[in-house]
Amino acid sequence: MIKISGSVKALPLRRTAAACAICVFFTLAPAPALASGGSHVSSGLTVSAPRAEAVNGLPHRSTASAASIPAEKDPHATAAKPRDRDYYEQRGEIVWEVPSAGKVIALTFDDGPDPVQTVQILDELKKYGAKATFFVVGKRAERFPELIKRETAEGHEIGNHTYSHPFLTNNRSTESIRSEIAATQKVIKSINGTAPVLFRPPGGYYHERLVHVSLAEGCLPILWSWHQDTEDWKAPGVNRVVNKVLNNAREGDIVLFHDHVLGSMNTVDAIRKILPELSKRGYHFVTVSELLKLRGSTSGVSKPSGSKTK
Ligand SMILES: [Zn+2]
Repeated sequence: MIKISGSVKALPLRRTAAACAICVFFTLAPAPALASGGSHVSSGLTVSAPRAEAVNGLPHRSTASAASIPAEKDPHATAAKPRDRDYYEQRGEIVWEVPSAGKVIALTFDDGPDPVQTVQILDELKKYGAKATFFVVGKRAERFPELIKRETAEGHEIGNHTYSHPFLTNNRSTESIRSEIAATQKVIKSINGTAPVLFRPPGGYYHERLVHVSLAEGCLPILWSWHQDTEDWKAPGVNRVVNKVLNNAREGDIVLFHDHVLGSMNTVDAIRKILPELSKRGYHFVTVSELLKLRGSTSGVSKPSGSKTK
């Protein structure tokens, strides 16, 4: 198995993935291609919790258990050859970032909505006219539909982050992958009237069947800039989150945050510092779909709609 960090690109990847939700790092052996660099793990993790139990109902994998993820019986599960980032990026089937987009950054928040953190993040975004993308967990969206409505009403984008936040590795059946994505499409459509057009797989795991199913459900798979994985789910302290973003900010970045991290306000406090500084540097904050529309616009953007600095 290979541990990927930072800018390694053209490898059929296995990576040390941080498990979403409360999870700790783990490495998966017969893995699908993985979003490298990063680790996305969803919330629920607290610094004081040495290992998370099923906090908030989101899945948890420990280092020890990761290698023994039970494979679901699917005749296609082992057939696909892992493809690397370049393959999917060139085909436009997965997006990590859009460096040609001009002076814009897409802030993304996974695992919500959360009745405390999401609200405060929305309040901060509003102060700066910043638009963001919330990759929501379907069952949490069902629980807090008013937050989905508010996110939408304030110009943010809702992305699909599965219904129950499992890792959709290559061991999972195609039907299981489909049902996780489709269920959240249905939930969001019932709240907003429109289904998401973006999908972010928990843990950043991707493989051929996942990509195909996601696209068939009407969602483009979106990962994140490898240099912008804040690992805020680990509650590393506000300054580490802030420094990660500010020290690495580049045009067209997709930044990975979480708006549902149990026991931590690091993300909320961090964006209170990040938003004013990046605004001062001249960045505008756009949704991922807005970012995608800017592909190829090397001259940059003057002012995306709805964006303003304070
Ligand atoms: Zn997640």
